[in-house]
Amino acid sequence: MRVRPTVARVDLGVLKANYRAIADHLARQQPSRPPGVIGVVKANAYGHGAAQVGRALEDGGADLLACADIEEGAVLRAAGVRAEILVFGALSVSDLDGLFDGRLTPTISTPGAARAVQAAAARYKQRVRYHLKIDTGMNRLGFRFDNLRRTLPEVLGSPNLELDAVFTHFATADDPGSALFDEQRRRFELALADVAALGGRPRYRHAANSAAVVRDPRVWFDRVRPGLLLYGIVPPPLESAIALNPVMTLTSRVVAVKGMRAGEITGYGGRFTASKPTTIAIVPAGYADGLDLRLAGRGAVLIRGQRAPIVGSVCMDMLIADVTGMDASPGDEVVIIGRQGNDKIDAREMAAAIGSIPWEIVCRVGTRIERVYG
Ligand SMILES: *Cc1c(COP(=O)(O)O)cnc(C)c1O
Repeated sequence: MRVRPTVARVDLGVLKANYRAIADHLARQQPSRPPGVIGVVKANAYGHGAAQVGRALEDGGADLLACADIEEGAVLRAAGVRAEILVFGALSVSDLDGLFDGRLTPTISTPGAARAVQAAAARYKQRVRYHLKIDTGMNRLGFRFDNLRRTLPEVLGSPNLELDAVFTHFATADDPGSALFDEQRRRFELALADVAALGGRPRYRHAANSAAVVRDPRVWFDRVRPGLLLYGIVPPPLESAIALNPVMTLTSRVVAVKGMRAGEITGYGGRFTASKPTTIAIVPAGYADGLDLRLAGRGAVLIRGQRAPIVGSVCMDMLIADVTGMDASPGDEVVIIGRQGNDKIDAREMAAAIGSIPWEIVCRVGTRIERVYG
């Protein structure tokens, strides 16, 4: 098989170790009733590869995975995943046959979704277990927490639907100063009481994304839903004592090295002018591979154990790094995300350099880049 110089290595052993580290942390903190872990593998497992990541998590003990839509659930089933699969997304305009073909667990987050899934379940003559989503202040999907007595009776009374779990999602879990986070917890507790008063008997409750896992055991409830943490990245600006390591490294190789004279430019638009004799390295990875244009002038790569600033412009298929004084040559390894020598560049650092978030950095690693699993 031919592999381009630019590759994303995905270490499934590290992934499983992260999963275990999170589970162990939960068990240490709450030994009497440790919350379970829902492995979030939406968006092609945050760019890491849904099939491989899904199978590895299952192998590592995960009994519930979550994805964004029915089509992602079908990919996991096609990969041989047998664990339960929760679909987060709204289903009101989806082709629901996939739910039944894939034995997926739907989220019911709108009255329209409840009616659509009820009608489909009646056609299939099946009872479908579902997770009920409550909107406690994010104002995206979910039944409003303060209106459940009006909206829920029809859902709970649907003959082919069986309430399995109730959940909510935080808008500001990664903002330590946010009052809304605590308010959402309080509202979720009110909503749980309302669900019970209306006769709903869910088997379990869940609320915590990665930031909430790191931040506050009071929102762990019966299960937690980490995505980013599984991939070894702590949501900024939070820090965590959980022993996690990045699952993905992104590397390439220098394909050309050349000298520039003082006053010369490199790259489209001539945005970098050499102020002195300068050596640059050309790296075959560009915005078509998911690298952000804004890295030029802001980011760096590691070559020969040193930081080489990205200069000029990030092109479609290439970027340019300033390797003056580094003795770089064609063939040298280039680390875009990962470790080299005593230094590292992680998704948090790259995100901070361009005003983005680490979730986006890993999700956007392009389809042209081969994922090599180890
Ligand atoms: C994506 C997602 C998560 C995981 O979020 P992270 O911040 O990556 O941990 C959890 N719950 C829901 C509903 C999500 O959509």
